Amino acid sequence: MREGAARCEACPRGCELQRGAVGACRARANVDGSVAPVGYGRVTSIAVDPVEKKPLARWKPGHTVLSLGSYGCNLRCPWCQNHSISQVGADDVPWRELSPQDVADLAVRLHGEDPRMVGVAYTYNEPLVAWEFVRDCSQLVHDAGLANVLVSAGCVSAEVVRAVAPLVDAANIDLKAFREDTYRRIGGSLQTVQETIRLLADEPACHLEVTTLVVPGVNDTDDEMDQLSAWLASMDPDITLHVSRFFPNWRMRDRGPTPVRRVYELADVARAYLPHVYTGNC
Ligand code: SF4
Repeated sequence: MREGAARCEACPRGCELQRGAVGACRARANVDGSVAPVGYGRVTSIAVDPVEKKPLARWKPGHTVLSLGSYGCNLRCPWCQNHSISQVGADDVPWRELSPQDVADLAVRLHGEDPRMVGVAYTYNEPLVAWEFVRDCSQLVHDAGLANVLVSAGCVSAEVVRAVAPLVDAANIDLKAFREDTYRRIGGSLQTVQETIRLLADEPACHLEVTTLVVPGVNDTDDEMDQLSAWLASMDPDITLHVSRFFPNWRMRDRGPTPVRRVYELADVARAYLPHVYTGNC
């Protein structure tokens, strides 16, 4: 590496960043010779959402969470439904800075106004590209007696997962496909996501659900769903799987939405292994 360069180890991309350079995720950069989470505390989206929207089907139904998103993502799914914040950097989208204390105070206030509001969700873009913010907020949110929800594609190093997992009460991890070549095409790694799911499934206090968006021609065969759900069941037979319907978006507009019938068929394939399978966007 050149003098002043630094390597980011937060995800399998392992970006080598020259001084001042921003990583592929746009949320981490080389600042004065070391990697820093420049997306830390930069909030682009904030809303109180039902937990079912995360989606979480079997954790505190009927409750809501204060949901925060920033900008940036380390993956490049051409069908991204949140590309307006996930595939842009600091100069391309409005954001405002919130400290972890601001987040915790807001959550406490909202919980005081409505006790069904149970905590904070880190969501919308890939929250773990600025995992230090998730960790710092989560600590204060726990100290205030509220819960943390993580919604992530899970394509980050095991060290990052281990740093936040003990603070997460519920997680939904995107398992985008069950083929390494599909993950390679979007800049990720199936093996890495499997390890994230394994680590969260092993976390005793974390309720874990998984979502697979069924994209026609990408991951919509019975065989792939069979392997994916068999693997999930081998790790935790009680795990919840959401089988979700794709709609054309961003750089994938060359095909129609997933036929509803196909989503139902693939959910049935998964039900051969898993008792808790839900369909979404149908
Ligand atoms: S987290 Fe961002 S900067 Fe770090 S390796 Fe991944 S894409 Fe690169």
